[in-house]
Amino acid sequence: MAQKGKTQFIFVMGGVVSSLGKGIASASLGLLLKKQGLNVTLLKLDPYLNVDPGTMNPFQHGEVYVTDDGAETDLDLGHYERYLDQALGRDNNVTAGQIYDSILTKERRGDFLGRTVQVIPHVTGEIKNRIMRLVERDPELDVVITEVGGTVGDIEGLPFLEAIRQFPFDQGRDNILYIHLTLVPWIEAAGEIKTKPTQHSVNKLREIGIQPSILLCRTQRPLDDEVKDKIGLFCNVTPEEVIEARDVESIYEVPLRLHAQGLDRQVMEQLGRVYQEPDLSSWEEMVRGMLSAPEPLEIGVVGKYVNHHDSYKSIIEAFIHAGQVNGARVKIRWVDSEAITDANVEERLVGLDGILVPGGFGVRGVEGKISAVRHARENKIPFLGICLGLQAAVIEYARNKSGMPEADSTEFNPQTPAPVICLMEEQKGLSQMGGTMRLGSYPCELAQGSLASRCYGEDLIKERHRHRYEVNNQYREKLEAAGLKLSGLSPNGELVEMVELSDHPFFVASQFHPELKSRPGRPHPLFRELVAAARKHARAKVEAK
Ligand code: GLN
Repeated sequence: MAQKGKTQFIFVMGGVVSSLGKGIASASLGLLLKKQGLNVTLLKLDPYLNVDPGTMNPFQHGEVYVTDDGAETDLDLGHYERYLDQALGRDNNVTAGQIYDSILTKERRGDFLGRTVQVIPHVTGEIKNRIMRLVERDPELDVVITEVGGTVGDIEGLPFLEAIRQFPFDQGRDNILYIHLTLVPWIEAAGEIKTKPTQHSVNKLREIGIQPSILLCRTQRPLDDEVKDKIGLFCNVTPEEVIEARDVESIYEVPLRLHAQGLDRQVMEQLGRVYQEPDLSSWEEMVRGMLSAPEPLEIGVVGKYVNHHDSYKSIIEAFIHAGQVNGARVKIRWVDSEAITDANVEERLVGLDGILVPGGFGVRGVEGKISAVRHARENKIPFLGICLGLQAAVIEYARNKSGMPEADSTEFNPQTPAPVICLMEEQKGLSQMGGTMRLGSYPCELAQGSLASRCYGEDLIKERHRHRYEVNNQYREKLEAAGLKLSGLSPNGELVEMVELSDHPFFVASQFHPELKSRPGRPHPLFRELVAAARKHARAKVEAK
């Protein structure tokens, strides 16, 4: 039986190939255990040597997910927060870079007292400490689910697997559970499902000393009893411990499918806890709404990383959440901002019901974003600008409405005579790139009666930031005089956090990233209202025909 008051640990590893959806599987298990009444948190271990993904190119790494406490983390933390509906933080993502950084700092300080510093026990010890830190911070935790990034067999993952192999010794065998996510492919030519890759991958784990007690098998086809028996026989698990994880239309179906396969029951029993039938009805209803929303809408996302959808993960999810409550199915048209000019913007954005200009860095593609803003403003198409999207909106307004044709951000043109967007004072002279932006949650006051405050239904909000540049206060008056409303300010009035237009059905932009706080069933207000406005726009188009 589970010892009262003792935290238990579940480790989720992946084998055969990457991209099997370990993050979503882990997040789904988190949700299912929360539904069992447990106090759960999730941790992602990333074996790469970057200290965090903040300095990585979105083309390589995908979205950088920012937490309330300002950590730049792996995009899986976004899934964790969305499924658990819990804010996570800096301690929930650990990279090999952080582990080595801390060990080397200690070594230089002389903390090792002359000893040789080694992978075992020092690196593994530091990894274990970082997992246990979550328990130190919250001794009430029932379960910590740790997802190990990468694929079993990767050289860089070995110290992490060795550290978690030691957990039964440290924490007691009954408090540890290993889950392995594998692929069971369908081979067209043979007309058969193949279990061999799973067998090999489990073998690989066993070589390291870890015997998984639950296998999650990603598959396109159902796994029949015969296949489950075979996997069980070769991998030392019972057929009930072989859980089918079939491809689904929406990632939000995953917890429901895993529950139907008995994952939560297996986990509770193996942890020596009492399983109760959970109430998943509201989640079920929400998923049904997502899949059956009647009204199709098309919203354009005008960005630079449009061929790498992982770079906009939270935006994609926020549209799914917002679509569901609006009874709309949002189709995203990915528009490459580098290919947009004033001459072709009309043609590229034709027929859209809404336009979103997301965040980004560097000059490439910025002019295309500015053209897209102008198109949305002039044609009264619902518009949401996020971070660089707000900066593009301010530049566009300055150039075309406030008589400053050369307005720009000093990020793109340091010599501009009208730097309407400029570096924040504390950002000047910084040479260190990692972790030095304005990061994390900050309060913002909304102007009474503004569109922003109507969306939120409140006047003081807290949102997450990740940027270096800001609206230049010297140009506030000029912009306002021309009709740009500064509808959100930092409480001391120093920083412009939101802008909007009154003579437009829906035109709003934020310096922060609203997508990071959108949740299934509880969409972010700005996304919810953008989709509502897009729906009105679409209906008006139909009526006008
Ligand atoms: N590049 C801009 C800045 O640093 C915008 C950043 C973003 O969109 N996240 O301020």
